[in-house]
Amino acid sequence: MTETIGTILEREGGTFRVSTDQGEFTAILRGKVKHRDGDRYVVGDRVRVDTEDPSGTLGIISAEPRRNLLERRSPDSRRARPVAANLDRVLVFTAAANPEPLPQLLDRLLVIAEANDIPAGVVVNKCDLASPEPIAIRFERIGYPVWRVSVKNGLGVEALLAEVKGHVTLFTGPSGSGKSSLLNQLQPGLALRTSATSAKVGRGRHTTVSAVMAPLAMGGYLVDTPGFSDVGLWGIDPRGLMQCFPEMRPLIDQCKFADCHHLIEPHCAVRGAVADGTIDAGRYESYRILLGEIRASPEQWE
Ligand code: GDP
Ligand code: ZN
Repeated sequence: MTETIGTILEREGGTFRVSTDQGEFTAILRGKVKHRDGDRYVVGDRVRVDTEDPSGTLGIISAEPRRNLLERRSPDSRRARPVAANLDRVLVFTAAANPEPLPQLLDRLLVIAEANDIPAGVVVNKCDLASPEPIAIRFERIGYPVWRVSVKNGLGVEALLAEVKGHVTLFTGPSGSGKSSLLNQLQPGLALRTSATSAKVGRGRHTTVSAVMAPLAMGGYLVDTPGFSDVGLWGIDPRGLMQCFPEMRPLIDQCKFADCHHLIEPHCAVRGAVADGTIDAGRYESYRILLGEIRASPEQWE
């Protein structure tokens, strides 16, 4: 038996498209993994495949440990469903203008990345139309890397592509922010659905969320996860939400009450930091909104 390591690019039912050193192949699960945890294999998983199969279809024998996992929880099921694995970075796009930046949507997308342990960054596009500040500074001051670019006139694009090259990156952000324009420049013909708002995913049981990973000619992969903005929040513990705001993390354990939700409790370190300007009031507002959403989903936490 000859084995090699491959990366799952796409899954359709029980069939996987796997990229290996020797090219792209179709593969199915073999042996133990087929029965044990077949539904756990997702886009981005690094898998061990048997390349000497007479049928021409490769057999997936096992998966390598994951670095991280983007998961979705639906309100009708407690079980989290894996969506994509081993992402290097989520890049959250916004336009400097046209459309105007939506800070709360950007916060939500960053929280999803944080909750799934995926490093995140912000791309402020359309710098030819308006100054990228203050939206760039809003995120930079809390430690996120920010790229100021204009896909239209090429400003900053090279530096951004240097980050994408050789990595596994997920583009997300409101429609109109310029993600497809960048993809077109990067690799014409790559048709990924990247808009946070373009893939409206229902909440019924027929919901299918399948991610696709596209290899880049310059090295690396782009991941398309339809409905990314719906992913993740269901899986966050109300007490863990603070951890998804990097600027609030240092304040953990500093509130008077250990179970502080940072809403109305006295001697709250987070609200203190908002009052003295250490924490951005808009970011805190996003925290409150997301906490309200999480607590309003009854089947979330017993
Ligand atoms: P997406 O929905 O995020 O994929 O956004 P698109 O790539 O479709 O871009 C939306 C519109 O913005 C298109 O008309 C683009 O031509 C335009 N656009 C993209 N990047 C820039 C830019 O840097 N500057 C300007 N002025 N327009 C841009
Ligand atoms: Zn507090």
